[in-house]
Amino acid sequence: MKDLSFATIKEIKQDLANNLYSIEDVVEFYKKRFQAIDGTVKSALEVFDTKSVLENFKCKGILEGIPGLIKDNICQSGRITSCGSKILENYKAPYDATVIERLKEEGALLMGRANLDEFAMGSSTETSAFFKTTNPWDASRAPGGSSGGSAAAVAAGLVPWALGSETGGSVRQPAGLCGIVGLKPTYGAISRYGVVAYASSLDQVGIFTRSVYDNALVFSAIAGHDEKDASSLKLDKKDYTTVLDGKLPEGLRIGLVKTAFESEGLDEQVSQLTKDAVKVLEDQGATVHEIELPTLEYAAATYFIISRAEAASNLSRFDGVRYGRRAKDIANLEDLYVKSRSEGFGKEVQVRMMVGNYVLSAGHAGKFYHNAKKVQNLIRQDFDKAFAGVDLLVMPTQPTPAFKIGQFDDNKLQLDLQDYYTAPVNLAGNCAISLPCGFTQQENMPVGFQLIGPRLSEQLLFKVGHAYQQVTDWHKKHPKL
Ligand code: GLN
Repeated sequence: MKDLSFATIKEIKQDLANNLYSIEDVVEFYKKRFQAIDGTVKSALEVFDTKSVLENFKCKGILEGIPGLIKDNICQSGRITSCGSKILENYKAPYDATVIERLKEEGALLMGRANLDEFAMGSSTETSAFFKTTNPWDASRAPGGSSGGSAAAVAAGLVPWALGSETGGSVRQPAGLCGIVGLKPTYGAISRYGVVAYASSLDQVGIFTRSVYDNALVFSAIAGHDEKDASSLKLDKKDYTTVLDGKLPEGLRIGLVKTAFESEGLDEQVSQLTKDAVKVLEDQGATVHEIELPTLEYAAATYFIISRAEAASNLSRFDGVRYGRRAKDIANLEDLYVKSRSEGFGKEVQVRMMVGNYVLSAGHAGKFYHNAKKVQNLIRQDFDKAFAGVDLLVMPTQPTPAFKIGQFDDNKLQLDLQDYYTAPVNLAGNCAISLPCGFTQQENMPVGFQLIGPRLSEQLLFKVGHAYQQVTDWHKKHPKL
């Protein structure tokens, strides 16, 4: 059997079409790889048994026979959906999320459930109630988060693609820290039906792959209107790979966000590697323009307030009555709520709900929540203004390369600043893709940069990202495991 560890979807599709091996061989290959390597990486909360993976398999479609891993806040019918939390530890999803339905329709093989920060709240996958995922490039470092399990699995060659979710950067940031591609689609481009809500006005499903081509392929499988999600856009399904010809669009104008490089938290090497990536695009024919995003520095704080407020409201449904864990030995209804929630939720989630209820409470909502919504509007306007003059924007994805596990235990604010370059895009509702652009000198840790587009410009992101990957090979490097 061929070594498929770091194969792309495109390669496996070709091999299957040429009958080099069977779909059963593919499942067995990755199952064995999980057994061999995931003891260290710890990307998966569960790898399903081969029989049940193949039972769900439909022999048709653009992902026929291609295995992937699903972040464990996306419902897979009959499987546990834990959200990385004790409160949902034994919760079995009664139906498939729309994205899962579509993946199955396209013949994808769903291999298991990926680890995450509890309820997708975090930037390191350290708040999972079950275990911490490690970065495949250095097991003493975090893979980023909250979709760290999904990112680590793809980076470690355990699967060629994985789904994550983004509220403030949870796909792009771990993609950057693990050296792979991560897409945050336009708000409303991919259905959230069956995705457990964190902050509903920002949540989106995102995609991890090693190549941009593969990312476009998975996006083609799952994007498009869904009447079951009220925020879903009227977007037709189409094949996003057809325009990937390796060339930049004629006259492409790229905006280098000057403001982003002035922030004091930005690591020098990340800054330089991002500028190097822009130079590559310039050499390919793009013109580069300096852009100011004056509201950029307010985005992390704005995101902090809005995400906590919506989380407090969304997570109030976990009350020990309808979903998940129910405390034993309770005296009355209030006791049931308090005990079930205190036992079930981890500390980070509890703190966020308290902050959320505070910023929403009478007397404080005006100062915090309503103000944050106003600033969100200004951020959105800033992006729209920028896109009046350029086609795409470039910023670093993450302020620093992958940090040590536990490094921010005493400084949570520093960890929250991991969202600095990603959260503004979620607040504006635009789309963005993070691409690998090099490695740090001493530690040899991967770094990503992001291309940010106007709403519904995924096609352009893929075209430009694919062209970039034709002349760079950062995405072909992989860790030694
Ligand atoms: N790091 C951010 C947070 O903790 C983003 C999380 C996410 O996008 N789900 O809220």
